This record gives sequence, C-alpha cells and structure tokens, in this order.
Amino acid sequence: MFTKILIANRGEIAIRIIRACKEMGIATVAVYSQADQESLHVALADEAVCIGGPRAEDSYLNGERIVSAALATHAQAIHPGYGFLSENAGFAALCKQYGLVFIGPPAEVISHMGDKDAARRLMKENGVPTTPGTDILQDAGEAVEAARQIGYPVLIKASAGGGGKGIRLVEREEDMERAFQTASSEAAKAFGDGRMYMEKYLDPVKHIEVQLLADQEGNIVCLGERECSIQRNNQKLVEESPSPGVSPEIRRELMATAARAAKASGYVNAGTVEFLMDQQKNFYFIEMNTQLQVEHPVSEQVTGVDIVKWQIRIAAGVPLDFTQEDIRVQGAAIECRINAKGPGRVDFFHTPGGPWVRFDTFLYQGYEIPPYYDSMLGKMIVYSSTREEAIRKMTAALSELVVWGTQNNTEDQIEIIRDERFKKGDYYTDFMKTFQGGSR
Ligand code: ADP
Ligand code: ADP
Ligand code: MG
Repeated sequence: MFTKILIANRGEIAIRIIRACKEMGIATVAVYSQADQESLHVALADEAVCIGGPRAEDSYLNGERIVSAALATHAQAIHPGYGFLSENAGFAALCKQYGLVFIGPPAEVISHMGDKDAARRLMKENGVPTTPGTDILQDAGEAVEAARQIGYPVLIKASAGGGGKGIRLVEREEDMERAFQTASSEAAKAFGDGRMYMEKYLDPVKHIEVQLLADQEGNIVCLGERECSIQRNNQKLVEESPSPGVSPEIRRELMATAARAAKASGYVNAGTVEFLMDQQKNFYFIEMNTQLQVEHPVSEQVTGVDIVKWQIRIAAGVPLDFTQEDIRVQGAAIECRINAKGPGRVDFFHTPGGPWVRFDTFLYQGYEIPPYYDSMLGKMIVYSSTREEAIRKMTAALSELVVWGTQNNTEDQIEIIRDERFKKGDYYTDFMKTFQGGSR
C-alpha cells in the first residue's frame, strides 16, 4: 500500500480524499494555488505545496508543477479528484512517466472514453445500446442532412465535451448552420477539439448512471444506479440512489450493461456509465465518466462501500474482496448540491447533524470563498430506510443549514425535493424547465 498520496484538487473533494487517506494510515500532500492559502484542504493535509497562481491554468491544471510537487515530497501516487486533470489522459501518462501512480484508469482508457464519439462506437460494437445519432460530422451541411434523417429536435454535442458544456439543442433546420458553427468553435476553444456529433433529443427521459469498480485483475462490481435527472443547463443538482424509476430487473440489466461497457474499454478503477432511460424503460448509453463523480456518496450510503478507499486500493494492486452477489442496495440516499450564487465570505456557519446526515464541504466560519473556481460549496447527503423518510430528513437537514455571507441555493433545493413530482419519483431531465419554486 502507498505510504503517501498527493491530492491534485481542492474544495470538498480534496477533503473527502484526505479523510479516506487518514483512515487508511496514508500520509497526504495537498497542493494549492495562491488563492487557496486559507483553504481547508491545506490545513487538513500533512503537507502542502503551493503550485502557482489563482487561475486554474496556473495551478490545478498545471500537470508539471503537480508532478514536481509529488516528486519533491516523495508521494507515490496522485489522486486527481474530479474536474481539473482527472479526465486528462496526458496527465495520467505524465504521472506514469515519472514513476507515480495515477489513481484512476490507464491513460489510454481515459483518452478513448473521453472521446465521446469513439466511446459510442466502442459501445455499439459491444452490443451496448446508444442514443440514436451520428458519428463525427464534417460540417454544418452534413449536420443538416443528418438532422433530416433523425428528426428534430436534435442535440449537437462536442466529442470532447464534459461537465454539461459543449451541448446545444437545435429545434429547427434554419438554426442548424449557426448553431453548428458556434458550438464547434466554442468546443475548440474550451476543449481544444471542435469535433461535433449529433444525437436525437430524447424527451422525457431520466438520467440514470451506474457506479462501478474494476480492479487490476479484471473483476468488475457495479454499485447500483444513481438517478440524476434534476439538472439545470445539463448540470446535476440533486442525485439519488436507488432511482425510484428502476425496478430490480431493470437494475440487473443496467448493471450487466455497464459491466459490459467497462470490460469492453479495459476499464480499471472507479467509473460511471451514464444512460438515458425513457418511459418504456429502454436505456441508452450517453457517455462514460472516468473519474470519481461528484455524486458518488449516494452510492456509498446505499451499498456501504467506500468508493475512494477502493480507488486507492485498486491503484495499489489490491483486488476487490467482494463480488457482485455481495452488493445489496439498501435504503435510500439523496444528495443536494449547495451552490453559491455569488462571491462571499462565510460570516456564520452552522451544519446539521444526526444519524446518516453527511455534509461534504470545505467551508468554515470566517472563510473567504475565492472567486476563481467551481460554485459548489458542499453536498448535503442523507440516508434513510425509505425514500419518503429520506426526503423528510433532507428537508430538515437543509432547513438546519446556515451559511451567512454568501447567497446560495439551499432554499431552492428544499422546494425541489418537496415538489410533488419529485416526491412521487415521477420526474425527468426537463424538471427544472417547468419548476416554479426556485424563482420565488
Ligand atoms: P457531473 O459530476 O455533474 O456528472 P462531470 O462528471 O461531467 O459532471 O464532471 C465533474 C466535474 O468536472 C464538474 O465539476 C464539472 O464542472 C467538471 N468538468 C468535467 N468535464 C469538464 C470539462 N471538460 N471542462 C470543465 N469542467 C469539466
Ligand atoms: P456531459 O459530458 O457534459 O456530462 P452528457 O452527454 O453526459 O454530457 O449529457 C449531459 C446531460 O444532457 C444529460 O444528463 C442529459 O440531461 C442531457 N442529454 C444528453 N444527451 C441527451 C439526449 N440525446 N437527449 C436528451 N437529453 C440529453
Ligand atoms: Mg455526463
């Protein structure tokens, strides 16, 4: 096992990983930007190295500096967290080149699955159903032709996109040319790759994803599904496990399909296979995320498996000590993302407690939130034996949360989980479009 790990991230996920290391008896090295000197992950790690300026490009996205910090502190492995360099194949390769273990899949797998077009083709070859759509489109003319075949509305998607960015809805032919040009040049700027493909816009659908672990010996175990249909601008706001729309039979099918997808790609470590599911319970692969997901805690709560610890063990060559048959999805877990609506300083801070209430955050009283990074402040996660009780527990937990000094979406989240459609489990990815509560 490793004796020292560097965490190449910040915020709540860096803290989540530091905690796992502490429980495993592994020393930790934090890296931080000049804007993050006062951040909690720096205080909680055993050592900390400043790696550059506030802008992510100068620090958390600077692979060379991070590798140098790992070598200088004699860390053996690097955990990338999510976002930043976590899905960057070049960074994974750089770690390997310097004899450091990248805690994630091999560079080749990251690059294959990170190319959404290549991933779709691999899935089709392996009998995994994908959303109806095209391969890479050469130009707007080809897009117009393809959309005539598929039928409007369609989505044009950047093959290199992620985090809800690089996706555009096109409803009419007259909008296609412009949409294609702007989306493609935006993708070229944001991801360094302007290649676009098209999918039929499916509606109404649920976003259902399967969390899995794959060890170096080829064992794959799925940890049930998460439903993440509550989204704004294709970004998740509320996640839960199990999905109220998934029966035990569908769960088995989903997990078998996800395992097939992982096997086909030669997957190792923790990964998530994302599907869209229609009202007839047909499901279609949309992409595979090769990182630890933001919403991983809900799967931990319902399975009792610590995903981060297993990421570390798998990277160290430890085989999974449980099989698919050992996994029981029990009870119900919900996560609400708490996002800032603007800059601020945490003047007063109170977090809820009680059994099975978990608030993963990097906030503390007096903390000045740097304006350079993601707006997510924390994740409220609750677990209960029934979904009904979990919803009440979440309402209570969110009501207890006090964050003064920074505007955030806590009130909106309370309204969302109190919504009749959410309570019934009868909700789809278009939920926020028709949701009135949050604007009040
Ligand atoms: P989610 O957790 O909502 O499913 P993803 O898994 O796509 O989102 O990404 C996880 C995190 O990484 C999010 O914070 C997201 O903003 C960020 N992220 C992922 N891909 C990119 C990208 N290509 N550009 C910028 N940020 C990204
Ligand atoms: P990202 O890499 O940014 O996470 P995804 O391909 O996973 O992009 O899509 C993000 C979200 O966009 C999905 O969760 C879903 O809500 C919506 N979406 C993606 N593809 C489709 C589709 N073909 N039809 C309807 N909605 C879609
Ligand atoms: Mg996605």
